[in-house]
Amino acid sequence: MKLRENVLISELTTMRLGGSARFVAEVSSLADVKEAYEFAKDAKMPVYILGDGANTIGRDEGFDGLIILNRMKGMEVVEETSDDVLVRAMGGENWDGFVEFCCERGYSGVECLSAIPGTVGAAPVQNIGAYGQDISQTVDNVEAYDTRENEMVILGRDEMKMAYRSTIFNDGPDAGRYFITAVTLRLENDEKLEPPFYNSLQKYLDEHQISDYSPLNLREAVSAIRAAKLPDPAEEASAGSFFKNIHLSDEEALTAREEGLKIYDKPDGSHVLNAGWLIEAAGLKGKELPGGFHISDKAALILINDSAKSYKDLEKARAEIVRTVFDKFGFRLEQEPVELVAKERRA
Ligand SMILES: Cc1cc2nc3c(=O)[nH]c(=O)nc-3n(C[C@H](O)[C@H](O)[C@H](O)COP(=O)(O)OP(=O)(O)OC[C@H]3O[C@@H](n4cnc5c(N)ncnc54)[C@H](O)[C@@H]3O)c2cc1C
Repeated sequence: MKLRENVLISELTTMRLGGSARFVAEVSSLADVKEAYEFAKDAKMPVYILGDGANTIGRDEGFDGLIILNRMKGMEVVEETSDDVLVRAMGGENWDGFVEFCCERGYSGVECLSAIPGTVGAAPVQNIGAYGQDISQTVDNVEAYDTRENEMVILGRDEMKMAYRSTIFNDGPDAGRYFITAVTLRLENDEKLEPPFYNSLQKYLDEHQISDYSPLNLREAVSAIRAAKLPDPAEEASAGSFFKNIHLSDEEALTAREEGLKIYDKPDGSHVLNAGWLIEAAGLKGKELPGGFHISDKAALILINDSAKSYKDLEKARAEIVRTVFDKFGFRLEQEPVELVAKERRA
């Protein structure tokens, strides 16, 4: 385990905000993970698990505890039949590298999740999703260190209670309890997704006359669409989609439609009001905001940090967006990225 003291959280997160963490441990083995938790227990410090910080916002007060950075590496095909395949990656692997590993072998099920920043271990935490896919559709199990019972566990898909941006890992009494060491996906072997695809993906495929929907072709299409409209975390500071989409009941969706709002009906029958659409319709796309932020002119859900150094600046920008959307449409937007605060109090 590699231990550092007084590390700026702004350097560990893609929104580039946040004061000092008292300790940061990089772990690359299960022994390291256990050692890190022992260290925190002895020092009576809270722990926060971090991957690449692409969905995490640091606060000005920093973190008076131990941040554990997952750096566990390795990817493998566990089992393959003519129908499906189990693929496993360690939690510290780069998520997009894992998607590439799967697509290159012709395995289908995560191609639309290409180019999402972050680690494999974080991917199930908020049930990452894009272009009609989310990881709940393909995750078979996760291996995790249960920090309450001090033992390794394997959690199956049903135990994770995966919903839109919500799972047992980030919501409810078990949030922060499990350190995910590995993720296993069950993917289709030799199967291709079938159209129609998510609107912007379908448009791209049509424009580029792509009719072979191989995992690799779809991966390339998704990556190209994303590269054209989403900021590269290495160049522009953001945490991806800053607000969650809003899920409506049948009745709410009917009323919203009558009021001219654009609602997307999902194949499972639920209704979604796109937060990016609301922000754009409120006239905020591409706008400068107080505090040193602006909303991307390519994707209205992306809040970009141009010069802010303080969480207080973020509060100003966020308040402006939430107020403007609420005044115009009566919907209160909810932040998607999590904030780096102690999730679980340790004895
Ligand atoms: C430009 C950009 C585009 C994005 N696009 C998308 C998108 O299309 N779809 C989408 O869903 N998200 C998107 N995101 C958000 C982000 O990429 C995902 O949430 C990703 O899974 C975060 O990975 P990370 O390693 O950076 O997580 P972190 O931010 O480090 O952690 C996120 C959460 O997971 C927990 N966690 C991390 N690792 C573990 C672990 N090993 N065990 C247990 N808990 C853990 C943390 O405690 C924290 O609560 C985007 C972000 C950016 C910056």
